This record gives sequence, C-alpha cells and structure tokens, in this order.
Amino acid sequence: MSNTPITVIGAGLAGSECAYQLARLGHDVVLREQKPVKRSPAHQSNTFAELVCSNSMRSDNPESAIGMRHAELRRVGSVILHAADANRVPAGDALAVEREGFSAEVTRKLTSTGRITVVPGEVTEIPDGDVVFATGPLTSEALTSALARFTGEKLYFYDAIAPIVAGDSVDMSIAFRASRYGKGEGADYLNLPMNKEEYLRFVTEVRAGQKVTPHAFEEPKYFEGCLPIEVMAERGERVLAFGPMKPVGLTDPRTGRWPYAVVQLRMEDRAGTAWNLVGFQTRLTWPEQKRIFGMIPGLQNAEWVRMGQIHRNTFLDSPRLLTPQLCLKSEPRLFFAGQITGVEGYVESTACGYLTALAVHARRTGTTFAPPPGTTALGALYRHVTGEAHPPDAPYQPTNVVFALFPPVEGRMKKADKRVAYAARGREAFDAWAPMAPHPVAPAIVRVPPPAAAAAVTVAP
Ligand SMILES: Cc1cc2nc3c(=O)[nH]c(=O)nc-3n(C[C@H](O)[C@H](O)[C@H](O)COP(=O)(O)OP(=O)(O)OC[C@H]3O[C@@H](n4cnc5c(N)ncnc54)[C@H](O)[C@@H]3O)c2cc1C
Repeated sequence: MSNTPITVIGAGLAGSECAYQLARLGHDVVLREQKPVKRSPAHQSNTFAELVCSNSMRSDNPESAIGMRHAELRRVGSVILHAADANRVPAGDALAVEREGFSAEVTRKLTSTGRITVVPGEVTEIPDGDVVFATGPLTSEALTSALARFTGEKLYFYDAIAPIVAGDSVDMSIAFRASRYGKGEGADYLNLPMNKEEYLRFVTEVRAGQKVTPHAFEEPKYFEGCLPIEVMAERGERVLAFGPMKPVGLTDPRTGRWPYAVVQLRMEDRAGTAWNLVGFQTRLTWPEQKRIFGMIPGLQNAEWVRMGQIHRNTFLDSPRLLTPQLCLKSEPRLFFAGQITGVEGYVESTACGYLTALAVHARRTGTTFAPPPGTTALGALYRHVTGEAHPPDAPYQPTNVVFALFPPVEGRMKKADKRVAYAARGREAFDAWAPMAPHPVAPAIVRVPPPAAAAAVTVAP
C-alpha cells in the first residue's frame, strides 16, 4: 500500500465521507478545505459537511429509494449518517437534523481519526499524487478553470435556496401543526393555510415580483426536482397548489378540512427557533421575498433568518469523462466525489463520497474496486454516475436517487408493493455484497426511531 497521503479537496458532504472512510481503511489523508479562508456564496459556517439549504435528508422510510440509501450508509459506517442520527430533529417521515450539531459532530469525528491532516485555504492548482475532487456544486472558479484543462469543458445549471423564518415570529393563531396524513411520530410541521383567494393573490404577486437576473452570458437551466417557486407559478396557476403548497393530508383542526393550499414550515433546529419554508427556493429579490412572503397568512410579522438565493451548479459529464473507477480517463490519479459527479442532494453526495473512497482504496492497494450491485441504492447511484442507468445518447443530468436508476423489478404489481420489492431485493443484494467490502458491514438495521416530538418542539404558541 502506497504511504503518500491522498489529497481530498473539499470537506463538504462527499469530501468528509470520503476522507473519513479512507482514514478508516488505513490511508493518510490531506483534507484541503477553502473555509474559513474563503467561502462560496452559500457556505457560512467554519465546520465540515455544512448543509447549505434545507436541514432535511429526506425520507427515512427504508422502502423509498432515499431511505434505502440511508439504511445502506448506516451499515457501512457512514460518518454523515452517524452524525445525522445523533442530531436528528422531528420531521415526520424525514431524516432532518439540527445543522450545527450535525456539522460539529462530523468535524469532531474527522479530526479525531489521527490520519487526516486538515489544510485550510482554496486550492487553485491540481495537486500532485492521488487527488479526490469533492468541491461540490460551487467549486471555486480558479479550481474549475484548472480542471477544465483536463476535462475540456464545464457544465452548469441553476438551483435555488429556500428562506428560513424565526419560529417566534410565526403567528401561531393561524399556523397549525400536522404532518401529511399524520405520518411520523408527531405533528412535526407548521402549516400555514390559505383559502383560494389568498392563494391566487399570492401566485399573482410571485409572478409579478422582481427577480434576480442571471448574468447575460448565463442561460438559466434549472434542476426539475428543485424548481424556484416563480418558475412553477409561471407554468400554471395551480402548479404550486399541486407542488410544494399541496394541502392533501393536512387537516386544519379549526375547520376539520384540508385548506385550498398550504405553506409548510419544517423545523431547522431542535429548539424550533428557526423554520424552513419547504420547497420555497426562489430567485425573487430579498425585498420582494420579504414583501410577498409577508402576505402568507401567519407570516405577516415574520423575522427572516435567511432569505432565498440562486446559485450555480457545476458538474462533469461523468459517464463520458470518468472510468468505472470514478477517476478521469485522461488522468487516472484524479478522482471525483459528490455533486461534482452529477449526483444531486446531501445523501447522494455522501454516498458518492463513500464509493469514491472504495475506488481510491482499490487503486492504492492494487485490489479490485467492487461497488455494491446495481439493485442496491448505492449501486443504483453508481449506475447513474457511470451512465449505465441511462440510454446511451441521453444528455447527462444530475439526479436524486430514484427507483428509475435501479434495474426494474419484474412483474405487474401495485406501486406500494413494487417499493417493497425493490427494498427487499436491495437488502438481499447488499447482504451478498457485504463480504466483498474492504471493511466490516453491519447487519441490516431496523428503522432508527425519530426523536420524541414533544421534547423537541418548543415554538411558543
Ligand atoms: C445553495 C444550495 C442549496 C442546496 N440545497 C440543497 C437541499 O436543500 N437539499 C439537498 O439535499 N441538497 C441541496 N443542495 C445540493 C448540495 O450542495 C449538495 O447536496 C451537497 O452539499 C453537495 O455535497 P458536496 O460534498 O458535493 O459539496 P459541498 O457540500 O458543497 O462541499 C464542497 C466543499 O468544497 C469546498 N471547496 C470548493 N472549492 C474549493 C477549493 N477550490 N479549494 C478548497 N475547498 C473548496 C467548499 O468550501 C465546500 O466545503 C444545495 C446546493 C446549493 C449550492
């Protein structure tokens, strides 16, 4: 085994997971992170694995594609899933975390391995030796240019970030607590109901509101799963009411009915001091956000902790540029992990960080890289990055993990039964793969129970 350290650039979700797994496998790592010397427009904290927008890692139901991913990452000893479970806040079926505690725990785990040397400051040139690029969607300009010398191109599109409101500024005589269809341990969301008139007025204002204009040379290309509300509002009057503002399963206790539309707030921290407007990513200007979101019933006196923003996403055409070992065809010592490979989301980036660690370990030890099979959630993500999950000529686009990335389950069955079948098949395949992993794999875990809602929800009525 070579004993020169491996350089991991970026201590985000993917870089933290990758560096941790490499250290665990006996490698020395130099982790180069530009914070706190320099920050992207979205990063604010000094700790690792910063969650730049939502505090949710989405559904923890092991019979969803993302919940399967959670379960598998727990089994392989993911540092990100460990820190998420340790800092969980109530959010219905979802795995949501208190972001500061989560990030602090990842930082603590990484800095206590004894094998990871952290070097702060922006990397502007490609370092020598084996390198993992885990610099994320907002890879700094200088490094992007240096990389372009190897890739010959750069791809990008636009994502937008949702605002956060102070819990004690929400009018609790209007908001009601409920999870959709009562899912989860308690009523974890705050819901702001709208009648038809209020909703239509809101859509009109969102459509007319002033937006941040991208630079002239940048053509906005949005990720379909994370569209700004104004783009949805433009697509049709009722699109928001069928999207992030859908009222189904949310009974207002005062009327006993579902409202016409709902704005859902998800808890940002265990104390409930801050709440995220779910699905309200936007490129409205900040004054317009304050004005228009202030029209939402219950937010008339809102104090804003953070406003929504627009950001650019950088990613490689991985199926074309990378080998099955997740390194550049033109320079096999350069590996990639996380969102820069064209995966989308916190957990997807984490999972990719784990897979890349296995690939680097294989190169360094002269062994074969054996990712989990395509029927597992980790394997399905690998199928996406290598292009196996897509038709040969399809343009490569970032994606969350969805069952469409898995080889299909055969046979006609109801949607719910199909999900069960995907999950059962995946667990079996993961069990069969486990002996091939270069580290111990824990047995399948029964669901981690969400924390007691009553203890965590403390927003004043
Ligand atoms: C504004 C915004 C909102 C988002 N909202 C969500 C969301 O709500 N839910 C979700 O699941 N995903 C969201 N995403 C996607 C999210 O970025 C990814 O899911 C995840 O954080 C990507 O992980 P990563 O490790 O690839 O990159 P990151 O977590 O971004 O980590 C990259 C790290 O590399 C560092 N870095 C960059 N360039 C250099 C350099 N030259 N030298 C040294 N260090 C460098 C950065 O400082 C950063 O710490 C959002 C992304 C953005 C930008």
